[in-house]
Amino acid sequence: MMYDVALVDLDGVVWLGSRIIEENVKGLQKLAEAGVRLVYVTNNSTRARSYYSRRLEKIGLPADPSSVVTSAVAAAAWIAERKPGALVYPLGEEGMVHELSQAGLIPVTRDAARRGEADAVVVGLDRNLTYAKLDAALRAVLAGALFVAANEDHVIPVEDGLSPGAGAVVAALERALGRRPDFVAGKPNPWMVEVARRQAGIPQGARLIVIGDRVDTDAEMARRAGIDCLVVGTGVASLDEAREKATYTARNVLEALEFIVGRR
Ligand SMILES: [Mg+2]
Repeated sequence: MMYDVALVDLDGVVWLGSRIIEENVKGLQKLAEAGVRLVYVTNNSTRARSYYSRRLEKIGLPADPSSVVTSAVAAAAWIAERKPGALVYPLGEEGMVHELSQAGLIPVTRDAARRGEADAVVVGLDRNLTYAKLDAALRAVLAGALFVAANEDHVIPVEDGLSPGAGAVVAALERALGRRPDFVAGKPNPWMVEVARRQAGIPQGARLIVIGDRVDTDAEMARRAGIDCLVVGTGVASLDEAREKATYTARNVLEALEFIVGRR
């Protein structure tokens, strides 16, 4: 076996919005049958691990929540290590709020954040973003809260094209503050690999491969973590762009099976 564990991206690999990417799902099923453990690593902070676990199971890719890591989980783990039980203002959706609680952190309201009562602000994708939320996040950080970004993805691939990603929300707060976040948890930060290793109990000697659709996040994280990477052409990156940075490129996972399990 060439690889023991595949760290698989979700948006642009398993699905695009509500559309399932069949050729990749079939390829991942074959990897699992061949004994490669699948651990899902996504920058998407909008949903909880349990949601992804259920959705993956429904499409024939059973994964318990410990085999799913989101950038909200990684951000929460980083804060919880430094400030256990911290009060956190979530500029994000329900999945982020849930994962902060799971890490023993205490989500606070917009009003509390605006009064300076938060120890940290976590910024992710928020499709209900308002000026009042940005205002509360700004006041909290000016009052001394840590500024943590779940990820800085510029865009997110959906069924009919591209929509603004968490990075667009982070940039708004970054501009108001005039400084960078204290920490960016998601890909390309290899912190995501570390969180995946701990949470999924991946042994140190395991041979890992990242499977993703982006060069700036998936392939770059793999490079920084010192592990191999397959970039598929079903999401954001073109294969021409990917060829420079990825260990392997293929139109889809099914076409790449040989690279991952073929030489055992
Ligand atoms: Mg992706």
